[in-house]
This record gives sequence, structure tokens and C-alpha cells, in this order.
Amino acid sequence: MGAQADIVYDVDYCVIGSGCSGLVSAARAAELGLKVVVLEAYPTPGGSFFGTEAHYYLNGRAIEGSGIKAFSEKDALKQHLGFNNYSCDGRVTSAFMQKHGQAIDWMLDQGVEVDCILTGEGGIGENGGVTGIMFKGKARGAFKYIKDAADKNGVEILCKTRAKQLIKEDGVVKGVIAVQNWDEDEAEQKTVQVNAKATLIATGGFAHNDEMVKKYIKADADGMRHITIMNGIQQGDGINMAWDAGAAEMGSRFVNGATGTVVGHRADDPVDRASVQPFLWVNRHAKRFCDEQPPEQHFEFAMTVEQPHAEYFTILDTKLAKKMMVEPTIRWNKLLPRHNNPEPELLKMLDECAGDGSVFKADTIEELAEKCGLDPVQLKETWESYNKACADKFDPVFFKDEEALVAIDEPPFYAILVHAFLFCTLGGIKINEFTQALDSEGKVIPGLYASGNDAGGFYGNHYNYYDSGSCSAFAFFTGWEAANVVAKALKG
Ligand SMILES: Cc1cc2nc3c(=O)[nH]c(=O)nc-3n(C[C@H](O)[C@H](O)[C@H](O)COP(=O)(O)OP(=O)(O)OC[C@H]3O[C@@H](n4cnc5c(N)ncnc54)[C@H](O)[C@@H]3O)c2cc1C
Repeated sequence: MGAQADIVYDVDYCVIGSGCSGLVSAARAAELGLKVVVLEAYPTPGGSFFGTEAHYYLNGRAIEGSGIKAFSEKDALKQHLGFNNYSCDGRVTSAFMQKHGQAIDWMLDQGVEVDCILTGEGGIGENGGVTGIMFKGKARGAFKYIKDAADKNGVEILCKTRAKQLIKEDGVVKGVIAVQNWDEDEAEQKTVQVNAKATLIATGGFAHNDEMVKKYIKADADGMRHITIMNGIQQGDGINMAWDAGAAEMGSRFVNGATGTVVGHRADDPVDRASVQPFLWVNRHAKRFCDEQPPEQHFEFAMTVEQPHAEYFTILDTKLAKKMMVEPTIRWNKLLPRHNNPEPELLKMLDECAGDGSVFKADTIEELAEKCGLDPVQLKETWESYNKACADKFDPVFFKDEEALVAIDEPPFYAILVHAFLFCTLGGIKINEFTQALDSEGKVIPGLYASGNDAGGFYGNHYNYYDSGSCSAFAFFTGWEAANVVAKALKG
């Protein structure tokens, strides 16, 4: 294979992917004296650096002396293990809890600036809780400093270069084969062979690979939507390469999802905000499936993805829309900073958007059902029993809170279609606490490391507010730690 490659590199450390974990890892490894090459499939580096807002941060120097009472590592570890049914990897989790602050502090050392510390992210309130850090300019702002650090220490980043296959000889991973200009005509393509003493898989999971999403997250989730604005190609390449090289699977069932999304509406526009309020929610069978008040700590992904086609409708009437225009909302907005302000433009927007495929409007419930493609008889039955529960101030099925039991009785009626929404996937390759890839016997595959969304072990459940910001912090930590471990192994 070596003789056939158009370009050959001989390096200490090959990093596949230049997102949150890959770029941090490359910059850290080069600082520690390793010769590093990074392969990036996208035309520009950065991956999901360009979307990330806030990062889990319990124990770094920006907290110390700030007067903010954060969770101890002990409390955070117990909360995380408990929420995840103890089905995540305890050693990986413990390593993250104890060392992620050091990884983020190293980023601050590179010039990344603190915007603020977020408190009570886990909803624990005044007595401490999960705390988060935001960087000035968000993660997009941080990217510049980490990229500068990588450049300063001689990291070579090959963009438009998509890794295809690991080189494994005698049970040891010795580098990777990639294709440069992989998305162009064959004549423009070049084979790249990177011979490396250590290889890190940091390709960001498989959120954009519909087949894998269907297979690993949920087979019939046709209604699921994912974000399309990211700076990368998250197709599960790294996970598949590692599995092909004998790495075991872990955690590929779990995702960072959020409250649902309304197609054609940006997060927190008035329609999107109405869609998450505890009005009447029905699935494609025109049946209620919860109390419409899932605690915000759990987002709604896990619940929504279990509904037929991973979607549901939020139904409201003119009275509820008018109320939301002047009163604080029961459920808060999605993006930071949080608020529960009224939405004075709601009714106007609902009327303007009616018929856009996401918002439906009708004078009767039966007509609304027809427009939504729901069974009119079943929707009428659901609606009548819901309104009875509101009149009785008692919900016999889901015990919804009394103050949220408001009848849907003033036409016109509106329905908003909500889809389960996927940011990124959360696992795939089984690793140990040193980010080394493991085979199905739990043995280390020499030369192979995995980080960020490609690495399984930290999540044993879908993402939730208790772990808010841990996705990116886990990527920063595992990237940074992989560099430390490789440098120690190679340089002592
Ligand atoms: C919109 C959005 C908002 C988010 N907000 C937050 C937040 O506020 N807090 C939080 O904690 N988390 C957040 N996340 C999640 C967080 O961004 C990810 O967990 C994190 O970026 C994962 O880092 P990574 O290095 O594993 O992957 P990425 O940052 O996605 O980087 C992977 C890189 O690998 C490249 N690549 C893929 N395949 C190949 C290949 N075959 N060869 C070479 N390169 C390849 C990709 O192009 C990409 O550049 C958010 C995610 C999104 C999408």
C-alpha cells in the first residue's frame, strides 16, 4: 500500500478530524514535542467548534476563588452514574470529572478568554450543581487560539483529506490511508498514507449518516431532524474504521438531542417557543403520550424519538395563543441566555405560517386532524377527554399539573409539528480512561486512540441537562488527554 500512495507522511501522531477534540489534541501533542499531522475531510478545520456554546466545567481555575459553589467531583460523578443507570464506564467518567478542568484551563493558557461561568445548569440551584463555562465569542472564539497554538507548534492540517482505512500490522495500528480531494473527480484525487506511532480517531460521530442513525439510534426515526449548519462531515467514518480494526462498540445508541425542532422555524422564534409549551401534545396516533411537562433537565429527545416517526403535534387554541402573548411562558426558551418572556407576535406568526407544513390552522378539531394527517375520530376523542380533565382539574392519565390544564376550546385551533432533533451522536468506540481503543476482550489496541463523539463510555443514556455542556468538554478532555498519554508513551 505504501508504494502506491501519492503522498506519504511519517509522523509521531496522526489525528483524524480537526473539531473540538482533534484540534485540541493536535495542538497539545505538538506542544509536547510530537510531530503531528491532522487529516480533515472538510475544506476548513474546526468541525463543531463552530456551533458549541457552553462547556461543563466543575473544577478549573476560573471557578476557584470566584465564590461560585460548584458540585464536587464526587457529587457530579454520583449524579452522572445514577442518571445513566451506572451503565456508562465508571473509570472513563471519573477521569473526565477529575481532569476536564485541566483540559479547559490548558485552552485558557492558549489565550482563550472566559466570558462567564454558568451556575446551576443541573437545576440544582443555590446549593451548587453542575457549572459551565462560556468562552468569549463562544467556541468559535476559542477555535482561533487553539488553531494558532497548533500552527505555532508546527501541526500540519490537511483539509479535504478524508481518512478511509486504518493501517494495522501485527495487531498494532500504524497509521491511516486517506484520500485527498475525495469529493472531486477521480483525476483530482490523491492517496495519502500517514505512517504514525499513534493515531487518534476524532471524526465527530455519525449524526449525518442517516443509515447509521436509523440502525443505532432508532430504526423508524424518519421524522428525526439534525442540524445542517455545522462545519464538518460527521458520517461515522472514524467509528467504522475503528470497528473494522477490531475496536469494540460502546454507547452508539445515545445522542445529544434537544427539545424538538419545528421545520422552517429557528430555535426560540415565537412558533418554536409555543411548540414546547405544555398545551395538548399528541403523537401520530392522535394520542397523548406524556403530561406535556417533561422536566427540562431531560430535554425531550428521548421521549420524542420513541413516538411514531419521532414526531408529535402541539395543539393550542386562540385563547392560549393570546395568553402567551402577554404572560410569562411556563416553559423557558432554549438558547442562552434563558428567559420566559411573553411572545407578543405569536398569533400573527401562527396565522402567517399556517399551511407551511409545520403550522396547521382550522376552525374545528376534526378539520385540524385532516390537515395534520391524523385520525379525526381519535383526535376528537383525545381532545374531549383532555378538555374534561381541564374542567375537572384532574388529569387521570398523566397527572398533569393543575395550572397547565387549560382547555382547548376557542377556535381557530392550531397544531405545530415537532420533530426529534439531533445535534450529535455520543459514542461508538469503546475506550479506557486513557482514551485507548479497546477490543471486545477489553484489551488495548496498540496505537489506536479515540476521542469526543467517536468515543463511547461516558454516556449510558441520552444527553440531558444534568450533564449540560459535557459533550464539548468531553471532546476537549479526551483530545487533550490522548495527547498527554501518547506523548508520555513516546517520550517518557
Ligand atoms: C449546533 C451544535 C451546538 C452544540 N452545542 C454544544 C454546547 O453548547 N455544549 C456542548 O457541550 N456540546 C455542544 N454540541 C456538541 C459538541 O459540539 C460536540 O460534542 C463536539 O464538537 C464533539 O467534538 P468532536 O471533535 O468529537 O467532533 P467535531 O467537532 O464534530 O469534529 C469532527 C471533525 O472530523 C471531521 N471528519 C469526519 N470524518 C472525517 C474523516 N473520515 N477524515 C477526516 N476528517 C473527518 C469532520 O469534518 C469534523 O471537522 C453542539 C453540537 C452542535 C452540532
